[in-house]
Amino acid sequence: MSDQDTTPPATGAHDGNPAPEQHEFSAEVGRLLDLVVHALYSDREIFLRELVANAADATDRRRFEALTDAGRALPDGAKIRIDPDKPARQLTISDDGAGMTRDEMVKNLGTIARSGTRAFGQAINAGGAADADKPDERPSLIGQFGVGFYAAFMVADRVEVTSRRAGEADAWCWSSSGQGNFTIAPATREAPGTDIVLHIKSDADEFLEPYRLESIVRKWADHITWPITIQRDGN
Ligand code: ADP
Ligand code: MG
Repeated sequence: MSDQDTTPPATGAHDGNPAPEQHEFSAEVGRLLDLVVHALYSDREIFLRELVANAADATDRRRFEALTDAGRALPDGAKIRIDPDKPARQLTISDDGAGMTRDEMVKNLGTIARSGTRAFGQAINAGGAADADKPDERPSLIGQFGVGFYAAFMVADRVEVTSRRAGEADAWCWSSSGQGNFTIAPATREAPGTDIVLHIKSDADEFLEPYRLESIVRKWADHITWPITIQRDGN
């Protein structure tokens, strides 16, 4: 498998709307996704820790970039928004951070760049045979290392990431059901930043409840310095 652009669009452009490009996950990501899908229920809540941490990192990054490029300045009141929509069974985590270009999305969300996730993969491989006998021990590894962005697939059967890089006009949408491949297509976003839309699994309703989300944020994201808001009206 490759982390490069592997497959050309299936069809040509129609009316200026090209078909989404298909890409394959790297083999390493494939293995990681396999593990998170089989995580124990008790470990699943850390998906929110990972996504909020990423939102905060991206907001920090934008603040840093703005020091040398005023065009990337953060908006007033920059924050992280957690928005559950029960009827639509969607949970959206949004930030005003640095965002990603198309190429950054392919690289950052299609391969494992992160050292923590690498360490996790190595720990899993080291315990490979034992793990097969004791699948219950896998989740504790997930809790210990965190699995970064891919943790989203513990609670979602489809994830869509819409992002606009600070300083750029265009936006892109990355989409995957966590099974081998992802697509990238042009999108629109009014301002720079990123929206992570989780299509919540049928057995993960609890993550559409504001009080549940709030308790996870209190437990795992207490140290985050950017404001975090949880929408309560389901809009
Ligand atoms: P890590 O945070 O350790 O780098 P993750 O798996 O959590 O690893 O995220 C992978 C990469 O995806 C990040 O390093 C970052 O480049 C990118 N990314 C994830 N979420 C966001 C976001 N909300 N805004 C901008 N970039 C993001
Ligand atoms: Mg992260």
